[in-house]
Amino acid sequence: MADQENIGTGAGALGRLSRSAGRLVDWLYPPQCLSCGAPVERAPSLCSRCWPRLLRISEPMCPVLGLPFQYDLGPGALSAEAIADPPEFDWARAAVVYNEVAQQLVSRLKYADHHELVPFMGGLMGDAVAAKLKPGAVLVPVPLHRRRQWQRRFNQSALLARMLGKRLGVPVETALAFRTRATRRQVGLSARQRVENVRGAFRADPQKAVQFAGRQVILVDDVLTTGSTVGALSRVLRKAGIGEIGVVTFARVVIGNGSDIY
Ligand SMILES: [Zn+2]
Repeated sequence: MADQENIGTGAGALGRLSRSAGRLVDWLYPPQCLSCGAPVERAPSLCSRCWPRLLRISEPMCPVLGLPFQYDLGPGALSAEAIADPPEFDWARAAVVYNEVAQQLVSRLKYADHHELVPFMGGLMGDAVAAKLKPGAVLVPVPLHRRRQWQRRFNQSALLARMLGKRLGVPVETALAFRTRATRRQVGLSARQRVENVRGAFRADPQKAVQFAGRQVILVDDVLTTGSTVGALSRVLRKAGIGEIGVVTFARVVIGNGSDIY
């Protein structure tokens, strides 16, 4: 970068000034691991202990549920879960396995306002979903009930969707669906209770649904657990005439990968 600095004294001075400001910021707020808060060299990133424990999901995987396979079962092979209980959506993809590190990132974003996590998480989600995108795709964050959004002041799914939209050049639509009632938090509920908890919790805007009828709608959320929330939302959108419904989350529960304890 030495050449660039010499183009003009003004630009060089400005560059030096912004680097000094950067060092000052680092000194005032030393860069921290996004997951555990340990000091790191550069932000935003994870420390050397957390990074290897963030398990990225890659092929081979179930084409429907996005569950990682230990062995390549050949093209089109579905997971036992997708065969036994076909989801309401067409496909789901997640960036990482929901384990301790992923959970830490998700709760820091959701409950501690660590918005600097959004570009990091959004970047990984972009990698996970890019291959599924079709022309005309639209991203729809899973809506929160108005009251909960007011309490939390933001919808973490909408933050992730906006970042993802920017990365992928895909529009974000927040008025296609909304939550008609506040639901209990899904944490600690069984799969059956989760389905009951979100039954009838969403409604689609009929006019918007007509507008998006022929397009690929991709639901965005932070975590996929049993899929009951995105399932309930998908059922409503499907009834409203949406053709293809995909799901992208930052993390997903993978039984047997240290995430079944949640
Ligand atoms: Zn760490």
